[in-house]
Amino acid sequence: MNFDTIIIGASNAGLSAALTLGRSRRRVLVLDGGAPRNAPAAHAHNFFTRDGTPPAELLRLGREQLQPYDGVEIRTTLAQTARAVPGGFALELTDGTAVTARTLLLATGVLDVLPAIPGFRELWGRGVYHCPYCHGWEVRDQPLVLYGRGAAGFHLAVLLHHWAPGPVLCTDGPAELDAAQLVTLGQLGIRVVETPVTALNSAPTGELTVAFADESRLAVAAVFARVPQQQRTDLAAQLGCAFTDDGIYVQTNGMGLTSVPGVYAAGDLTSPFQQVVAAAAAGMGAAAMLNSTLIFQDYAPAG
Ligand SMILES: Cc1cc2nc3c(=O)[nH]c(=O)nc-3n(C[C@H](O)[C@H](O)[C@H](O)COP(=O)(O)OP(=O)(O)OC[C@H]3O[C@@H](n4cnc5c(N)ncnc54)[C@H](O)[C@@H]3O)c2cc1C
Repeated sequence: MNFDTIIIGASNAGLSAALTLGRSRRRVLVLDGGAPRNAPAAHAHNFFTRDGTPPAELLRLGREQLQPYDGVEIRTTLAQTARAVPGGFALELTDGTAVTARTLLLATGVLDVLPAIPGFRELWGRGVYHCPYCHGWEVRDQPLVLYGRGAAGFHLAVLLHHWAPGPVLCTDGPAELDAAQLVTLGQLGIRVVETPVTALNSAPTGELTVAFADESRLAVAAVFARVPQQQRTDLAAQLGCAFTDDGIYVQTNGMGLTSVPGVYAAGDLTSPFQQVVAAAAAGMGAAAMLNSTLIFQDYAPAG
């Protein structure tokens, strides 16, 4: 085997795992597939000691602090295929090379599936957000539109009204809310608009405008949305890893081990609880579990 571990993904979870494994004297290859999920946002918030740091700067620091650990190699390429082989795993990379390792650590994140509303993608992370813990404080007490329907829209609306009272819940079609949910929203001062949304626009002042199919408009400080997610790669499926009941996230034992022995996973791809600091903590935990498993396997297999 070329490496003890290949970490696939060099963002918050992957670089944190690399630090732990580098410090554990492991031969590690980190595959850097590009931008982190929060790349569109100017600042990452809610990270102890790093609140407000640009996402790219967090990763620059993460890479810089790997330099003393000569067992860690970072390559800018993607893992294309992954399969089990005797003694470990074999990967084919998009740079045309193939590598092997005793274990794998998946840190490949998730994709947010954005609605095809003009302006939505362009403003994602720059006025259109998904998480109040990341971006709620900056727009507290300001007019907000919440985009979502059904149980997800209801949950988003009740949550966000704590940061900014009187938001408007835009369901972009039938609200799919039951009578009790509508009563609760009414009591909280949350107006529900079912008219289809046709576009999101931003003004130079930073204000956003939500345009509706009936030609009406709403000017707001920000839009918060609940959008579906999917795995960023099919590597976990290729390896035969089990998924959570909703079929979205890679199942782990809480310490990063997936259902496939030798394959670990950390960060957004394992759970809807998604934060930079949580991904970094999960990467550290999975790396420590992986390392101790290899130590006991090598030196005390009966233990
Ligand atoms: C707009 C936005 C703003 C956010 N703001 C905040 C915030 O302020 N604070 C906060 O705590 N959280 C924030 N988040 C959430 C945060 O971005 C994620 O929780 C965090 O990035 C998860 O880190 P991760 O390492 O698990 O995954 P990611 O950051 O998604 O990284 C996955 C990495 O894997 C790489 N990769 C994927 N496939 C392959 C492959 N086949 N081969 C090699 N590499 C691959 C990707 O290129 C990427 O670099 C925000 C999210 C969004 C969408």
